[in-house]
Amino acid sequence: ANENTVLFTIFGGTGDLAKRKLYPSLFRLFKKGNLGTHFAVIGTARREWSDEYYRDIVRETIQDLNPTNEEAEDFSSHFYYQSHNVNDSEHYDTLKNLADKLDEQYNLNGNRLYYLAMAPQFFGTIVSHLKSQKIITDNGFNRLVIEKPFGSDYQSAYELNQQIRLAFPEQDIFRIDHYLGKEMIQNISAIRFANNIFESQWNNRYIDNVQITFAENLGVEDRGGYYEHSGALKDMVQNHILQVVSLLAMEPPVAFSEKEIRTEKVKALNAIRVYDEKEALNNFVRGQYGGGQLDNQTYIDYRHEENVSESSETETFVAGKFMIDNFRWSGVPFYVRTGKRLTEKGTRINIVFKQVPVNVFKPSIEGTCENSDLPPNVLTIYIQPTEGFSMTLNGKEVGQGFNTLPVKLDFRHSAETVSNSPEAYEKLILDALNGDGTNFSHWDEVAQSWHLVDVIRSSWDKTTPDFPNYAAGTMGPKAAFDLLERDGFQWIWEP
Ligand code: NAD
Repeated sequence: ANENTVLFTIFGGTGDLAKRKLYPSLFRLFKKGNLGTHFAVIGTARREWSDEYYRDIVRETIQDLNPTNEEAEDFSSHFYYQSHNVNDSEHYDTLKNLADKLDEQYNLNGNRLYYLAMAPQFFGTIVSHLKSQKIITDNGFNRLVIEKPFGSDYQSAYELNQQIRLAFPEQDIFRIDHYLGKEMIQNISAIRFANNIFESQWNNRYIDNVQITFAENLGVEDRGGYYEHSGALKDMVQNHILQVVSLLAMEPPVAFSEKEIRTEKVKALNAIRVYDEKEALNNFVRGQYGGGQLDNQTYIDYRHEENVSESSETETFVAGKFMIDNFRWSGVPFYVRTGKRLTEKGTRINIVFKQVPVNVFKPSIEGTCENSDLPPNVLTIYIQPTEGFSMTLNGKEVGQGFNTLPVKLDFRHSAETVSNSPEAYEKLILDALNGDGTNFSHWDEVAQSWHLVDVIRSSWDKTTPDFPNYAAGTMGPKAAFDLLERDGFQWIWEP
């Protein structure tokens, strides 16, 4: 492995994301040799911690990865803690002194990666101070990794972006969408562009509709405070779901490079129809979970969760239809849905192919066929929790006579392969170290996604929802099923 030379500064170093994802990912990179002697990590947050205490915490976060004592000691010795209030300019001077000292101590050549693992309202302030207090170096690279959400609508995203761009050029900004680090999301491109049997059919002549489901069985858990201000539309559709739509819909890139892929994704996003408010109401439905029963467990309704208003109008479910107005996709609906407290956890994509022109197996007086239905061919891409893909085909049922029967070609990565594969965050951090922005959201994509989502949001803000409208443990409100039925389709995945 290539050893990287870099100083990480993690803002929000005591937070949940840092502990659950970032430190274990850094350790995996360390074990693989992507980080060696020439790296250091500054963790910053409000609390007063000593380096020693911080290193204890870091070692705790990697316990599941079974490090030897020596590895854990060696790894954690690269970590330094600096208490820090992001609103206080003087604190950035302390941070700069520490950064410069570590740069010299570890021979880091001015290479710096700033990871903003903090609430988004701080993103702008931190970035401005990185520049004004001259923490950004003149030698070496300076890259900014920034967590979601990027803005809360187009206007706020635009303003945040303007502020960040004063300190970092676009190619040094790595906006995290951790789904883009997932193996099977990256596999969408392999399935499409490495298989003539699919790419030749990947258009409105052969595909009837596309269905994307991001289902969670959990409720809002302890994130009620955050979720009340976000809701499913902004939390899931604006970023993850639209990224997946663009990967499925884009034209084949000229080369598999960051620049070419981005060009095609942006073109695809720009071709998605921007609804007016009336169309938005017609094509998007929202839901909020009520109480319910699943597997002998009773669940409370969203409005009684912690930090949630008793009259909350926040949606915990969205289903909708995007239309893409270009030659390839005209007339093919892209149905999307996501929600909490659904029947089962699972992220999957169903590509539903058109029927054969004539069903010669329809029962007829002189024929021997008894069943008339030919279910559509469906290509399913399983993103999580299992990873793989399947294809349903129609074959002949064994026996006298002639009945057709759907059969499924099913491939799933083994649990062992999945557990040994790099974590999304591990891959994305390494990409950022390599300066490869392929699997990050670029500004043009973020901007267009907000344009698409803002209309839906504003149409909802002007109407009163009839919440709660689905029981915990179901796949969402009736309207989400009607949405497809009125087009003559149905959700392929019904757990
Ligand atoms: P968290 O609340 O657990 O951590 C926040 C951190 O910010 C803490 O270290 C806290 O000390 C620090 N902080 C807060 N105010 C500060 C101030 N004024 N000055 C200095 N430090 C301050 O949050 P989190 O769950 O780790 O999330 C961080 C970011 O990552 C958010 O943007 C979130 O949306 C995103 N994210 C988190 C997860 C996750 O699994 N936790 C997943 C995806 C995205």
